[in-house]
Amino acid sequence: MALTEHSGNLLGLDREELEGIAVRFGQPRYRGRQIYHGIYARRARDLSGLTDLSSDFRDAITAHQGIIYPQAERHFCSRDGAVRYLFRLPDGNKVETVYMPEEDRTTLCLSSQVGCALDCKFCFTAMLGSQRNLTAGEIIGQVLAVIAGQNVAPGARLNLVFMGMGEPLLNLPQVLKAVRILADPKGVGVTLRRIAVSTVGILPRIEELALAPVRPKLAISLNASHDEQRSALMPINRKYPLADLLCVCRAYPLRSWEHLMFEYVLLDGFNDADDDARRVADLLCDLRARVNLIPYNSGPQLPFRAPQFERVLAFQKILMDRRIPAFIRISRGQDISAACGQLSLNIG
Ligand code: SAH
Repeated sequence: MALTEHSGNLLGLDREELEGIAVRFGQPRYRGRQIYHGIYARRARDLSGLTDLSSDFRDAITAHQGIIYPQAERHFCSRDGAVRYLFRLPDGNKVETVYMPEEDRTTLCLSSQVGCALDCKFCFTAMLGSQRNLTAGEIIGQVLAVIAGQNVAPGARLNLVFMGMGEPLLNLPQVLKAVRILADPKGVGVTLRRIAVSTVGILPRIEELALAPVRPKLAISLNASHDEQRSALMPINRKYPLADLLCVCRAYPLRSWEHLMFEYVLLDGFNDADDDARRVADLLCDLRARVNLIPYNSGPQLPFRAPQFERVLAFQKILMDRRIPAFIRISRGQDISAACGQLSLNIG
């Protein structure tokens, strides 16, 4: 039976694909839906737990396929409660996922690619270069493996952000497939409004995302106040400059409850001046936007520094005075290299 196209993993298959497998094994379609419910909603780790299926059917599938979670090779616990997971994928590649518990919710920061091709000058993942896209199963596997490892209760308020390694919009089909399963109340059951993807601004893919029937929230890494500055930090800006990015943002079909989120990494003496804040306010003034200000997280080999905190506050005040909601985001897990931009597979 030709089942190898799914590389042996049931994780990542959607309802229709699992129904197809049931039929190929001579079973009715609804048996596929039972597997779907079992692996995503009941979070079974093993087909043997799915006792609503006949043991013959379970054995037949098990001969070809299993429920394969990425293997947590190591994890690092921060003083602030965040945990960075280093996952080993079946082909030996590695990715990282960050677990961030708060009082009333838990946020998981997910990777969408092994490495990253975009070469942003302040980001440590960039040093890994481009490697490969993750499959929907590898994305969902990060969620299920961390939930299991941390005993996150099934009803817990969970936020998922595609802000780990990689550029999610360069892996849009697999990211969207994973989101459909993650957000399906009969699947993993995460509230769709609590799932966000972040992009450097791959404009045709933002337009494609806008059309997706099941669509996560959109965050855009702005990080600069004018083209010359942004191109110096983010080479992608030469292809998709600010005027074009903002044009696509203005046309983006926000839902009634939604706003566009812009991330702005503050780099001391580079993009953190009052004039930068004023230009950012001018860029965003006609959008339903919010800004997350992220003081730079440092690491080895890069020439940047975080600004003094007073500078961060001054930058925020200029935006707020211009009626742009701006929040200061102090990254979690800095002591374990789990903070924004620090994911780079270093062991420390
Ligand atoms: N490639 C996507 C998804 C990654 S999100 C994107 O860039 O949007 C990672 C976020 O962390 C981005 O907003 C990025 O600007 C920010 N970031 C990267 N390196 C950082 C660093 N050293 N300190 C603080 N934030 C950083």
